[in-house]
Amino acid sequence: MKRSQNTCTSASAARTILTVVVAVIAVALSPLSAQQEPKLEASVIHILHVQGRVYMLVGGGSNITVQLGDEAVVLVDTGAPQMSEQVLAAIRTLSQKPIEFIINTSVDEDHTGGNQSLAQTGHYNTGLAGEQAGASIVAHLRVLDRMTAPPTVKETAVSQESWPTDTYDNDRWDLFNDEAIIIEHPHAAHTDGDSIVFFRRSDVISVGDIVTPEHYPVIAAAKGGSINGEIDALNQIIEIVVPRENEEGGTYVIPGHGRLCDRNTVTDYRDMVTIVRDRIEDLVKKGDTLDQVKAAKPTLDYDGIYGADTGPWTTDMFIEAVYRDLSQTKNQPDQRATKPGKKSGQGR
Ligand SMILES: [Zn+2]
Repeated sequence: MKRSQNTCTSASAARTILTVVVAVIAVALSPLSAQQEPKLEASVIHILHVQGRVYMLVGGGSNITVQLGDEAVVLVDTGAPQMSEQVLAAIRTLSQKPIEFIINTSVDEDHTGGNQSLAQTGHYNTGLAGEQAGASIVAHLRVLDRMTAPPTVKETAVSQESWPTDTYDNDRWDLFNDEAIIIEHPHAAHTDGDSIVFFRRSDVISVGDIVTPEHYPVIAAAKGGSINGEIDALNQIIEIVVPRENEEGGTYVIPGHGRLCDRNTVTDYRDMVTIVRDRIEDLVKKGDTLDQVKAAKPTLDYDGIYGADTGPWTTDMFIEAVYRDLSQTKNQPDQRATKPGKKSGQGR
C-alpha cells in the first residue's frame, strides 16, 4: 500500500449492503443514538460491511471506518480512548494486516481518542526510508494546531502520541491503499479542520460530524465551525455522492454518529439545515433577540427527527449556535459560497 502503487482491486469483495453485523463482545447494548451515547463499559462493537473494501464500526464512541487493503488497513477516526481495545479486536476479525494510515475527520476527542493506542499497533512504509513504527495519523493542519494549543482551564492536554503526524493545509490530499482515497477539506463546517474521505472504488465516503442523521449538526464555533460552511460542506458531499436509483443506494455515506446514509438522507439533511438557516437569518435581519428567535421555533417541523431537549447537543444549542454565527456575520458581506470550486493539487 504505497501511495503510488497500482495494484488492481479484485472484484471479490461482496457488494452486499448491510449484511454483516457481528457482535465482537457478546454484551447487550441498546441501539446507538446520537443523544444516547453507548454505555462504554458494556459496549459491543458492531461491524457493518458497507460495500467494497469498506466497513463501518459502530459503538466505539464515534463511527469508525475501516478500509482493507491487501497489505494494510486504513482507518477513518478512532473513537473514544477507552474503546480502543474493543475497536482493535473488531478490526482484527476483518484483517491481521497492520494499520498504516489513520485519518481524523476533526479534532473531536470522540473521533481521535483512540489515535495513540491504535497507531501504536501499526506501522508506516515511508518508501525509501523503509518502515517506520506506528501508523501515520493524517488530518488537516487545523487539527494539529488545536491539539497542540495550550489547553483551556476545562480541557486536558492531548498527548503527543495522539497528534497528527502528517497534515495537509490545502483543500485536498490523496492516499492509495489498493484503491484511491481522496481526502477533501471543507472550510469551517462542523469545525475548521474537517476532512471528508472518499474511497473511490468502494464508492463510500466517510464524513465525520458534518452529517449526523439523528440530530442537528454540531456547529462548533469554538473550533472554527460555521453554519454557512456546514451547508457548503453538505453540498460538497452531495456532489460526490451518486445514487443508484430513486436517490438511494450507490455511494454510501458514513456519518460521524448514527446510521449509514445514502444520497437521499444527505439531501434531506442539507435541505433541513438550509431552511432552518434561512428562517433564523430572516429573524436576525429583523433584529430579533436570541430569546425571540427561540420563541419563534424555527426548527419546529424538524424537531421530531433531529431535535433533542437533553444530551450533548440540544435543539436550543443548535438554534443558539446558528443565531450567534449569523448575528456576527450580519453586517459583513455575504460570505456564502455558491458551490465549492473544484480542487486541485495534493498535499506533501
Ligand atoms: Zn462526533
